[in-house]
Amino acid sequence: MNFYVLTIFPEMVNGGLNHSIIKRAVGQKLININTVDIREFSEDKHKKVDDYPFGGGAGMVMAPGPIYNAYSSIKDRAKGAKVIYLSPQGKVFNQKMAEGFSKLEDIIFICGHYEGIDERLIELIVTEEISIGDFVMTGGELAAMVIIDSVSRLLPGVLGSEESPKDESFTSGRLEYPQYTRPREFMGKQVPEILLSGNHKEIEGWRKQQSILRTTHKRPDLL
Ligand code: SAM
Repeated sequence: MNFYVLTIFPEMVNGGLNHSIIKRAVGQKLININTVDIREFSEDKHKKVDDYPFGGGAGMVMAPGPIYNAYSSIKDRAKGAKVIYLSPQGKVFNQKMAEGFSKLEDIIFICGHYEGIDERLIELIVTEEISIGDFVMTGGELAAMVIIDSVSRLLPGVLGSEESPKDESFTSGRLEYPQYTRPREFMGKQVPEILLSGNHKEIEGWRKQQSILRTTHKRPDLL
């Protein structure tokens, strides 16, 4: 799967995703992460990418030209790609959307800054606006990285068998059961006896019950 990230901070995206499971997936060519530096497409001699908002008001707006040119430089390679503008005004991202995105070949992300991007870009090239939650960040890079990480781990081969996503929170519509590892006793607290029983059927039943209990307690809205 190919991710294209249009950004004024390519080193932030490349650095942030160059670790652990995602780094391994890139190494195995299961995913490609292509950053496109919007600044390189500025025709201004100082490589400016922002300008004052028409109508006045606080802050700067990312100008349409450099982003449109950055998009044009990759659009033939990423034919038919979803073009996602990361925006606090977008649809709020969730696991179901991650599952949908994991079936695609190519996704292009546009990372905004300042007051956001010129609205005409949204009309011209954006197919979807996605938010990672009801809060405002300084830029779209972290949001793009959140989506790339959560989508990539759903692709075949990205997780090792011991890292399987099958029981995970949200996959079954519930939160996952509690997890324990060695030692059996820690600061006077014991691992639940049933997990040491070796009875896989009973363990499975206990985990299901715990999953329902904790979803009821922590996220009743999911039930
Ligand atoms: N003026 C915009 C508004 O009020 O809707 C907010 C712009 S924000 C300061 C700058 C950029 O950060 C946005 O263009 C977007 O790319 C990114 N961003 C901020 N919050 C986000 C969120 N919750 N989800 C996704 N992207 C976000």
